[in-house]
Amino acid sequence: NQNRPQSEALYQEALQHIVGGVNSPSRSFKAVGGGAPVFMKRAEGAYFWDVDDNRYIDYLAAYGPIITGHAHPHITEAIVRAAANGTLYGTPTELEITLARMLKQAIPSLDKVRFVNSGTEAVMTTIRVARAYTKRNKIIKFAGCYHGHSDLVLVAAGSGPSTLGIPDSAGIPTSIAHEVITVPFNDLGALEQALQRWGNDTAAVMVEPIVGNFGMVMPHEGFLEGLCKLTREAGALVIYDEVISAFRFHYGSAQTYATFADHAAIEPDLTALGKIIGGGLPIGAYGGRREIMEQVAPLGPAYQAGTMAGNPASISAGIACLEVLQEPGIYDRMDALASKLAAGLMETARENGIPLTINQIRGSFSAHFCDHPVTNYEQAQDTDGERFGTFFRHMLDQGINLAPSKYEAWFLTTAHTDEDIETTIEAARVAMAALR
Ligand code: PMP
Repeated sequence: NQNRPQSEALYQEALQHIVGGVNSPSRSFKAVGGGAPVFMKRAEGAYFWDVDDNRYIDYLAAYGPIITGHAHPHITEAIVRAAANGTLYGTPTELEITLARMLKQAIPSLDKVRFVNSGTEAVMTTIRVARAYTKRNKIIKFAGCYHGHSDLVLVAAGSGPSTLGIPDSAGIPTSIAHEVITVPFNDLGALEQALQRWGNDTAAVMVEPIVGNFGMVMPHEGFLEGLCKLTREAGALVIYDEVISAFRFHYGSAQTYATFADHAAIEPDLTALGKIIGGGLPIGAYGGRREIMEQVAPLGPAYQAGTMAGNPASISAGIACLEVLQEPGIYDRMDALASKLAAGLMETARENGIPLTINQIRGSFSAHFCDHPVTNYEQAQDTDGERFGTFFRHMLDQGINLAPSKYEAWFLTTAHTDEDIETTIEAARVAMAALR
């Protein structure tokens, strides 16, 4: 078992200077019983090394972007080359065209794209564009889907199946929250009800087509088709937040995932992207139908800009990452590793009489401590967080790095090996036994 005195010391120091000691609340250990998060100093492939020289097998993948493993040589080389040529121009470059073209080829609903710096910005702007295009204000979203930290999408459901939102954060005016309606995921009836009541004022329905934020959750058969149909009947736009799902399951996005019978029937009007498309550097992008995207400045009246947007380092890393992902068989390999790991986790849970629900989608899965399916946020909330906290700490102490949240997925990368999976299952066997 590991000791982490340097992480403890750095955390105390960080608390003096950085709010909460972390630059994103998801990095704090608040949800798993508190204490110092691990301060890493180096990462390569599937591994992290912390400041105390402990090694970890990483399943966080920086919340998704690191699908090729840390410091992939092809991506590193692209970043170094870009840095040597200047990190920021404030002018267009050919690189941006290359990445835009790659995105369009993989996701045909993107007639035009625009690069920004984060998923938050991408989502925030799709809402502005949808409002500009429809000249309506309200947004319908789904409980438990996370769309970044802009005002409109940081709003939760009130009580009842179909309600106006209440702010999820201090500093968001109630008047803004009242522009947002939150309904349960996988519940077409609730969406229909919301559209009956507010459809004429609704600019867009926003959804993670495959959910990554309260576990990995597939839409029920027909859910996305119904969502698109009902939304369009109401004269509103469909926005997919594919910040996590794009290039996660295959070379494409959820809207082109082979499991869905009819891709055309589930095509959105606008899509928000981020994470993997930047190869580990800051990025976001949004895009969609030509006439909608032409609302954006300098062509149209919807304003959006960015000093750092389309910077050559992020764009180069993104191109390099997508090049790696085009290698044949790469997604099947991640799928096989995830299947093996998921089966091992289930077995160790069963051995110890611990209820566990695993939702696996290709190379990622969520593992919820509960004895019921997880297909919506309510079910994900109704899982054992305390048990997860104990499991998380036992895994960490054995050198397995997971996200410190019971909702977060495990992400396989192209760098993980069979041996890593076996090591992880052995660690899980110890952790599960400790939960008995
Ligand atoms: N949308 C989704 C689906 C996300 O998972 C996230 C981040 N986890 C975001 C948007 C926000 O992206 P960012 O953190 O890059 O602002």
